[in-house]
Amino acid sequence: MAASSASAEPVTCLSGVGPARAERLAGLGIRTLLDLVLLVPRDLEEMPASVPVELARGMPGELVRLHGEVAAKRFFRQGGKRSLLRVKLVDASGGIEALFFNQPWQRDNFKVGDEVQLVGQVVTTKSGPALAAPRSGSAERPLPEPGHLEPLYPVTDGIGQDYLKGLVGQALERLVPRPAGLRADVGAGAAPPDGSEPPPGIGERLDPSELEGLDLPGLDGAAWELRYPTSRTAFELARRRIRLEGLMGLAARLVHRRRARLAGEAPAIGAVDLDELAAGLPFQLTGAQARVVGELLGDLSSGRPMGRLIQGDVGSGKTAVAVLAATAVARARPGWSGGQVALMAPTEVLAEQHFEGQAPFLAAAGVPARLLTGSTKPAEVRALLAELESGTPMVVFGTHSLFSERVAFANLVLVIVDEEHRFGVEQRRALRDKGQRTHLLAMTATPIPRSLARVLYGDLDLSVIDELPPGRGELRTRWVRGAERRRIGALLDERLERGERAFWVLPRIEDGEGGRGVLTARDWLLAGKLARHGIELVHGRIKPEERRAAFARFKAGESKLLVGTTVIEVGVDVPEATVIVIEGAERLGLAQLHQLRGRVGRGAGAGEPSWCLLLGPKSAEERFQLLESTRDGFEIAEADLAWRGMGDLAGRRQSGENQEGLAEFDTRLFERALRLCAEREGLLAAYS
Ligand code: ADP
Ligand code: MG
Repeated sequence: MAASSASAEPVTCLSGVGPARAERLAGLGIRTLLDLVLLVPRDLEEMPASVPVELARGMPGELVRLHGEVAAKRFFRQGGKRSLLRVKLVDASGGIEALFFNQPWQRDNFKVGDEVQLVGQVVTTKSGPALAAPRSGSAERPLPEPGHLEPLYPVTDGIGQDYLKGLVGQALERLVPRPAGLRADVGAGAAPPDGSEPPPGIGERLDPSELEGLDLPGLDGAAWELRYPTSRTAFELARRRIRLEGLMGLAARLVHRRRARLAGEAPAIGAVDLDELAAGLPFQLTGAQARVVGELLGDLSSGRPMGRLIQGDVGSGKTAVAVLAATAVARARPGWSGGQVALMAPTEVLAEQHFEGQAPFLAAAGVPARLLTGSTKPAEVRALLAELESGTPMVVFGTHSLFSERVAFANLVLVIVDEEHRFGVEQRRALRDKGQRTHLLAMTATPIPRSLARVLYGDLDLSVIDELPPGRGELRTRWVRGAERRRIGALLDERLERGERAFWVLPRIEDGEGGRGVLTARDWLLAGKLARHGIELVHGRIKPEERRAAFARFKAGESKLLVGTTVIEVGVDVPEATVIVIEGAERLGLAQLHQLRGRVGRGAGAGEPSWCLLLGPKSAEERFQLLESTRDGFEIAEADLAWRGMGDLAGRRQSGENQEGLAEFDTRLFERALRLCAEREGLLAAYS
């Protein structure tokens, strides 16, 4: 970012920062001087005007300024480092206590009879109104004037406001030239000695015309403004400018990756006739599927590496789309000798299901299909590895073990990643880096709001399958409470008797606070009348082969009720499943609940609706009602985002990457950052 090495200097070069504090600062994401000067205050505090004590007592929640005399003080040790200092302040109107938690040194700042100024928030305690952890001043060291503005930084245990302000001040003096026109008394006062080098500055990314176009201040000035605000407006603009800086870093990486991809070369498969390609499918493609396959074929014949994400709600038919693309790549024809395709699923169960489901279609199209998982027999593995090394065109299904070192593809043309969001950040990144000469197709059923998709997948092109295949049975969602719960057993009994299947999902394995786990639930079900239908148990601690066997029995109808944790969420396709009961639903996110219910009602409707039954407390009522009222994955994703916050979602996805600016993610600002970066790299069209 900055050209200077000073910006990368660790915070330990500042006075007052030892190893312990450095570690706490690191917890706030602060490691270098640059991190300090770019630290975005969470708010702005305006010094309040003085009020009489009696008035302040009636202003709970307000920030007030008091002048008075110390009438008494008492100090309490509370064990460990915990302590409480109570200082009684009186003026002509009355008295109030000021409370200082865990600041034993404050004892020496107050003597009975002293005149003091306090600024703090009025809180209500058992013994009446009090002032919580106020700042104090005296005649010699007065507090700033009323109306004076101060930043409020995000703080943590052991890192207080004043301490952090001190550090930011020091870092500014070293790193950022003082803006012209700044009042001389502003700043740490530790001006560098005469003749020393002027501070290097942060390094401006935007040129003056861009800054003007955005109506934002330069980076150096903005950094000073945040620490020493001159007005609310200037502070807000500075905050925007600094946030934009963090977002520019993220955007630049995304745009750069995209440009690098587009500058690369990958095999062009030539023209493919879509109707002919899809002729062997047992159904007619939906309009959305056909459109997306067309987009894929366009990419695959462009000579540039494809990097595309397909977003499609659960059940929208992503598999067929992927398999058509795979067939187009793997099948030899005049002008194209055929290439290898790897289709990677997050679990062995899903990989197997894809393999079994798609092998017939591929075979009919003359494309060899193979499966490689941890359970593949050694002799088969050897044979398969030899085929891959010799470049034989085929589609190979598997988990991430497809990309272990021993597997060498001589002719890998297309990598397909199903349920992309299920893979770890590292795996996904490794995959994308693989894509220099390989076409990459990622698929996800998590409908992501467009704004967030830009952050997570800004380096990819996006296709959306926004249409469900026809003939689905109706799926109803219902929050079941009170006496109604007793009717669940009868409903299940009736459905299972007819040969249908049901899931019973609980978020955890063992019993815990506020609810039981799958183990207890399974025992309870086994003791009841549903036991006669056969009950399977799956969770993360059950060995993969046993889990697979349980799924297989369930799919085949040998057992009709599957009790499990959310491991069943991933792509399981059992058309006969018509009921899903989710117990402890309040513990799951909206998007996850939506995914789970997508497991039922996948077969053609047999007349009666499929059911998603949610069990959970009233505290989650609002979320349950949303699920009852809509099946639109995007609407649910937006709501989920609003509930949990962009920072949470994005932060999790981006973990390991620079998280600057994500805590209070501003999607509109990010869009601007993205466009600025795209414009520079000549890629604007890709982001419009
Ligand atoms: P997802 O997008 O969740 O991966 P799948 O690809 O598993 O969805 O498809 C769900 C079900 O819908 C499968 O049983 C599949 O055979 C069926 N299906 C897919 N496309 C169509 C279509 N165009 N018409 C009818 N059924 C379809
Ligand atoms: Mg799927």
